Amino acid sequence: MVQDAWGGISEELRSEIGESNHKNWIAPLECLGVSDGVAKFRAPSRFVGDWVKRTYHDQIFAHLRAISADISRLEFIVGDKPRPAGPQAQTMTAPANDPLQGSPLDGRYSFDNFVVGKPNELAHAAARRVAEGGQVTFNPLFLYGGVGLGKTHLMHAIAWEVQARHPGLQVLYLSAEQFMYRFVQALRDREIMDFKNLFRSVDMLMVDDVQFIAGKESTQEEFFHTFNALVDQNKQIIISADRAPGEIKDLEARISSRLQCGLVVDLHPTNYELRLGILQRKAAQFAQSYGSIQIDDGVFEFLAHKITTNVRVLEGALQRLFAFSSLIGQEVTLDMAQDCLSDILRSSDRRVTVEEIQRKVAEHFNIRLSDMLGPKRTRTIARPRQIAMYLAKDMTSRSLPEIGRRFGGRDHTTILHGVRKVEEMRGTDSQLNEDIELLRRLLES
Ligand code: ADP
Ligand code: MG
Repeated sequence: MVQDAWGGISEELRSEIGESNHKNWIAPLECLGVSDGVAKFRAPSRFVGDWVKRTYHDQIFAHLRAISADISRLEFIVGDKPRPAGPQAQTMTAPANDPLQGSPLDGRYSFDNFVVGKPNELAHAAARRVAEGGQVTFNPLFLYGGVGLGKTHLMHAIAWEVQARHPGLQVLYLSAEQFMYRFVQALRDREIMDFKNLFRSVDMLMVDDVQFIAGKESTQEEFFHTFNALVDQNKQIIISADRAPGEIKDLEARISSRLQCGLVVDLHPTNYELRLGILQRKAAQFAQSYGSIQIDDGVFEFLAHKITTNVRVLEGALQRLFAFSSLIGQEVTLDMAQDCLSDILRSSDRRVTVEEIQRKVAEHFNIRLSDMLGPKRTRTIARPRQIAMYLAKDMTSRSLPEIGRRFGGRDHTTILHGVRKVEEMRGTDSQLNEDIELLRRLLES
């Protein structure tokens, strides 16, 4: 019987995780036995169950598996009086479905899988430093940057690394949204002391996307207290946000200033080399799950050039190529990639705005932006204007009337005329072709 073995397992866990962790988290568990491959435990409170599941699940599971191969998962039931696991019992099985869980860590988000380039080298170095553990030199570490630039990846990498180096340390990673959710839940269930104890007992706290709590007063308040309590104990805190602390609207000034006390580093938008590196690294990873596929030269370069906003999108594109290629059993050519990714490529193109095109073209030909938009019809102005119209039609998804409006309210036929004119000239004028290609590259980079 598993219940009989539990005493021994619990003792082994004591030596693995230490006396105080054992007392707090393992000793309060009651093993209820196994049915249908599910090993059930009762935890005295939701927080204990939640915490155990997040922190010790794998260890407990490994021990149980060693005594019975039939066990396929663990379940934690909440309640302090013995009662059957009926409909009224709170179970916490699937981490993904249970909003009370701290976010599970993604195994792929390791330092090994993080490609370092100029735009992220500082953030990476800071994350590495924090992950070494040891003396807390800057607290908090505040990482910020746009969507998909690797903030969450770096935070998970820190958590993995710390757990590997210092298995005894309690690392809690969660999104600010979950922080709020847990807080609200704790208030409702009158478990606020448990909540406070839980957060104050961690050795490292990571809160992702902290901009989420802006404007949410009591959550901010609680976050502030948690934050201060941990800093006072010299526990490392790592925060991420989509912008700098001072730029988060509706974030209390005292919080924003505390967030700036440590080290604030930003992840810059990716550059071409970094994107290329990421594609190569991800391709090697995908090859492991999808099997190797043949990718023609130039495809990665093309993607790194075209998809510039968000690494997640880049990754999605690559994944689709892998799926598609292994499905139809063909190599990935440039044509195939363009076809298969036309929607992604189109929406990435939308990034360039008509205004940017006008600005760049005006700059390139040394004319004033006001002239480009204005009525002058001299050739030195009209020609660049037509080139800008051509690029606007070519590089954005704007319609002719929309482009016309942006060119000082011109009619769509005027735009069409300009576009045709440039197309016609491109056939013979090599200087014009060079100008256009240069401008296109500038605008796409
Ligand atoms: P953020 O949290 O900043 O929005 P994520 O960390 O979720 O971004 O990153 C989005 C995706 O891009 C993830 O799959 C991540 O692995 C990947 N990614 C981002 N930057 C890098 C990088 N430098 N090297 C490898 N993968 C990266
Ligand atoms: Mg993120």
